[in-house]
Amino acid sequence: MKQYLKHDPWLIVEEDFHRSYNEITESVMSLGNGRMGQRGNFEENFSGKTLQGNYVAGVYYPDKTRVGWWKNGYPEYFAKVLNAANWIGISINIEYETLDLNTCEVRDFRRVLNMQEGYLERSFVALLKSGKELQVNAKRFCSIVDDEAGVIRYSLTPLNFDAKITIEPYIDGNIRNRDSNYDETFWDEVRKETGYGEAYIELRTRKTGFHVCTGMAIEIEQDNARIDFQSQPIRQEKYVANRLTLDCRKGQETAIYKYAVNLSSLNYDSDSVVSEARKYLQRITGKGFDRMLIEQQQAWADKWKMNDITIEGDVAAQQGIRFSIFQLNQTYTGEDERLNIGPKGFTGEKYGGSTYWDTEAYCLPFYLATADQKVSRNLLLYRYKHLEKAIENAQKLGFKAGAALYPMVTMNGEECHNEWEITFEEIHRNGAIAYAIYDYVRYTGDSEYLTDYGLEVLIAISRFWSQRVNWSEAKQQYVMLGVTGPNEYENNVNNNWYTSYLAAWTLRYTVETVGRVKQLNPEKFNELCDRIHFREEKEVATALHIAENIHLPYDHNRQVFLQQESFLDKELMPVSEIPKGQRPLNQHWSWDRILRSCFIKQADVLQGMYFFEDDFDRETLRRNFDFYEPMTVHESSLSPCVHSVLASQLGMKEKAYEMYLRTARLDLDDYNNDTEDGCHITSMAGTWLAVVKGFGGFRIKDEQVVLEPHCPDNWASLAFKVRFRGALLEIKVTQTDASVQNFSEKPAEILLFGKLLTLEGKSQKTVQRPTESDAI
Ligand code: BGC
Repeated sequence: MKQYLKHDPWLIVEEDFHRSYNEITESVMSLGNGRMGQRGNFEENFSGKTLQGNYVAGVYYPDKTRVGWWKNGYPEYFAKVLNAANWIGISINIEYETLDLNTCEVRDFRRVLNMQEGYLERSFVALLKSGKELQVNAKRFCSIVDDEAGVIRYSLTPLNFDAKITIEPYIDGNIRNRDSNYDETFWDEVRKETGYGEAYIELRTRKTGFHVCTGMAIEIEQDNARIDFQSQPIRQEKYVANRLTLDCRKGQETAIYKYAVNLSSLNYDSDSVVSEARKYLQRITGKGFDRMLIEQQQAWADKWKMNDITIEGDVAAQQGIRFSIFQLNQTYTGEDERLNIGPKGFTGEKYGGSTYWDTEAYCLPFYLATADQKVSRNLLLYRYKHLEKAIENAQKLGFKAGAALYPMVTMNGEECHNEWEITFEEIHRNGAIAYAIYDYVRYTGDSEYLTDYGLEVLIAISRFWSQRVNWSEAKQQYVMLGVTGPNEYENNVNNNWYTSYLAAWTLRYTVETVGRVKQLNPEKFNELCDRIHFREEKEVATALHIAENIHLPYDHNRQVFLQQESFLDKELMPVSEIPKGQRPLNQHWSWDRILRSCFIKQADVLQGMYFFEDDFDRETLRRNFDFYEPMTVHESSLSPCVHSVLASQLGMKEKAYEMYLRTARLDLDDYNNDTEDGCHITSMAGTWLAVVKGFGGFRIKDEQVVLEPHCPDNWASLAFKVRFRGALLEIKVTQTDASVQNFSEKPAEILLFGKLLTLEGKSQKTVQRPTESDAI
């Protein structure tokens, strides 16, 4: 754990340059706008530890999977969103010395991510070997208004010298993914152009053939006035630049404005990406940096108005939740249904920018409650559109009759993970996709979705489960063999409780949905049955028989569900017995030792109890929590958040708070020693869950908002906003009461501390927290 970033409610601040943590800071200070994004790299040259990262949403490459002995069913490739041309670069040379923070001394360094207004700022004084002192100020953002553009204001002020300074703003397409399996280059150059103060480079991805044009336009100011300048165009292999030399006087500020665009053939004709980039640049330079910044600030203010969370009395906790909301909004806007939410967003390469079960299991509730309904619908449609591929995927593995196995990792519907032994058997993801349909319909009431799309997906998933189980003569029950549950620290186990429970639930929910759709729209139902050859009677009977007779391992002695059949054969011990200095386990122990140990990477049985909380009473939840949590190392970012929600539910306030801080500050404090690979974007939705579902006790039950809120003891108050069926509500919780404000015109009915409140449009009500004696 590292604590070098300052606590602040709206800013992430690095004071003094922490060279050895630079890759961590670069991840944390990433910028994005849903279409493109980028790590918090420096504009000027830097020879120290850095991962240059620029990403264009949806532009990927099928990198050939690296395996030893090929086996049937392996995915052919591991898809990754590509590290794209570096558009931020500006080289600075002062009389033969290159500005490089790794080789000069640095004073007054400050790097600040402003989450409220959506920009990154940096200032420092460089003390060059020649004795020259140069003040640098840089500000940049990825515009959320013009979402294919980024802009930079980069200024230089000599503090103790006059000199000619050579400035070279450039675009560099000589980029490799660090996580490339065979160290290949993924881009080919198609075209480059340079002109007065502008340059373009068009690159094409190998195999997938995406074209991306990155263009830049430069303006220079001295003494706050725009100046004309002579520039020399530079054209090298996959590199374009404008080189210019300016006389700079002591105390005089020279500001470089660099406007850049990234246009891809996902949105433009590949023949026209360069001409479109030129038009785009003309438009944004016409607006100018200051105007664009004002628009950016306004657009972020609008976003915060809809989904800010305020915590009074605890700056570290406040910063953590805002950081999470900020990064989620930077990663996915929901406007393009072809896109999804990669576990690292635009902050790094790990996980390749692909879609995981994280979207359905963690992110969906965030978008349901904070964005327009079409955003979560788009997330569901993304999977609907991949149904055919999921059926093909199941076929490749030997399943038949329209069974679908959705991929664990995907870019276009095809399975494309890199780790056969773990990911392949995590078939539980299929259940999360079914659960997301349930969650969406429960939240929005949009049952038409079931008729048009949802039922078809549910039937295909249920067909998979029906074929994936087998009847055990010995047990006289259905068993599910050879799976990996969410806890990836156990592979190829039998009867993982979570997977089997989820499968049985999916089968029952599918049967229920069959009845519902049949009633809602018999015509469409019949049409679907014909199209997918659904034999209702037989398939429903099979589904129910399996659901009722599935084997769910249980320990009668401890009265807990068993993570898998032989969990109790393990040597059970709490995490506190792991010798000091050996965590995270995945960086210290052999895989063999991890697999044999009882230590749990992330919620597994407890993930199931979190999804299906109404199926279990409090004592059952408590027993399972007390059994599993002490053995859980939380080495998946997805773990602490679920535990925080459950601990809140159990009234374990301290545990809920401890787990909240761990999820909320996971990247800010580099808890798992892996933030340098990128931030854990999908788990940030989990952080939101820990606040809203956990402390806020927010649920939708029987078509209604239900709230059982509490505040950690050290918080003066907590306030969050949720949208629900046309209403926008703000819930404010203090130690003594809770109030609900309805910002919309639409009246809302809410159950708060068990009391039914009717809130007219634009009204507010406060309810005192019930005391223990009220409960008696
Ligand atoms: C977790 C998975 C998750 C993946 C991407 C892994 O470490 O174990 O559950 O899907 O990260 O976030």
